[in-house]
Amino acid sequence: MTAVQALAMPAAGAAFETITIQRRALRDDDVRIEIAYAGICHSDIHTVREEWGPITFPLVPGHEIAGVVAEVGPAVTRVRVGDRVGVGCMVDSCGTCDACKDGQENYCRNGAVWTYGSDDVDGTTTQGGYSQQVVVAERFVARVPDGIGLDVAAPLLCAGITTYNPLKRFGAGPGTTVAVVGLGGLGHMGVKIAVAMGAEVTVMSRTRAKEADARELGASGYVATGEEGALEAVASTYDIVLNTVSADLPVQAYLETTRPRGALVNVGLPPSDFVVSPWSVVGGSRIVAGSNIGGMALTQEMLDFCAQHDIAATIETISADDVDAAYDRVVAGDVHYRAVIDVTSIGAAATTSAH
Ligand code: NAP
Ligand code: ZN
Repeated sequence: MTAVQALAMPAAGAAFETITIQRRALRDDDVRIEIAYAGICHSDIHTVREEWGPITFPLVPGHEIAGVVAEVGPAVTRVRVGDRVGVGCMVDSCGTCDACKDGQENYCRNGAVWTYGSDDVDGTTTQGGYSQQVVVAERFVARVPDGIGLDVAAPLLCAGITTYNPLKRFGAGPGTTVAVVGLGGLGHMGVKIAVAMGAEVTVMSRTRAKEADARELGASGYVATGEEGALEAVASTYDIVLNTVSADLPVQAYLETTRPRGALVNVGLPPSDFVVSPWSVVGGSRIVAGSNIGGMALTQEMLDFCAQHDIAATIETISADDVDAAYDRVVAGDVHYRAVIDVTSIGAAATTSAH
């Protein structure tokens, strides 16, 4: 076991604290990663604020992890000490069910082990990436291509794959129109990836505040959804509407902006159910879909795609002391467009508080 410093939420409604956690001794196929950066995903916030149900505290969130390999088990073949790597939302899966065999570990029939707050195969609860190190089975380690900095790579491990997966599956590309709803961490990656795939992209955001940024990211259209009649004006327009919003939304109104046979793909996970009328699904033979991150092969494909197209996340780098404030800024939609923790500051914060 190795003791490492980590940033944990100690109790519901509390502030983050630096604690010591244990990382397991390396198994044969394990990789020890010295973490450099960890992105703050809205899922971290939903989780520690118990918006998805009760959790066990203390919890170290973080599933957008980028760092350098520090040690490998004897059976590891794909990565070596010194390699730049990433870990996303999963750290294990059964590996034997049809989903795993098909590269869809994210839909493992026996339940994937999520990177934090999940029951691990050894009976412990997983702790995430807001920490100095993580130990992960090689199967769940992705290579960060040369040319993508570790800081801007970290958010690709969740925000990147979560948007790449449905855009690819529903056919974003030349001649298609894509609307991305919500310009946050997922949304801004959705725009960059859909543009790189060759689609014509529109951003749907609450106000005009993000319009200039959206156009800089490559969007040719912009809908300020808070303006009267904004969605009605783009009824039946898009092949794919990718909803990344973290809050409850009148999904019906967005579904009606898809073309006949188009798809509304929900990746946002707000607390409440949504309702759609059978008429709007049947009338245009529309698809209401969802998507959850992506398998490991697709995650690697996404990273390579980003390197090839010279894209990565647009980030604000923060220190361990800023995480509580950053959570509030994420919820307010103020972060442009992903807050990423400089993990070296976690140890530094601990040293300071010890004096
Ligand atoms: P984020 O950075 O906070 O972005 C969410 C965006 O939603 C905001 O930037 C904002 O965009 C919009 N929004 C926020 N509050 C709103 C409100 N009350 N009404 C309308 N729009 C609002 O969050 P994120 O990290 O991208 O995550 C987004 C959601 O996806 C979360 O629910 C998260 O849990 C979920 N998620 C799902 C997966 C998956 O695999 N399916 C993976 C990761 C995350 P504007 O300011 O442009 O309006
Ligand atoms: Zn996430």
